[in-house]
Amino acid sequence: MSSMMIRCPITGEPVSTAIEVEPTVFRKLPKVSARILCPACGQEHVWATSSAWLADEPNNGRRRTGTAG
Ligand SMILES: [Zn+2]
Repeated sequence: MSSMMIRCPITGEPVSTAIEVEPTVFRKLPKVSARILCPACGQEHVWATSSAWLADEPNNGRRRTGTAG
């Protein structure tokens, strides 16, 4: 399982949604919106699965140093 990641619109930091899905499931997800209390900026964001990516597959976000793991 991989964590779904989003990008904080305030800081631009990758943020984990703490939601874990299988990659095969992730690709079949319909467009769903959810809320997250962002650990990067402390504000609440609405994000959509269409803008999320998997932590193991950073194809939508550039990897930076400081990633936990
Ligand atoms: Zn944020």
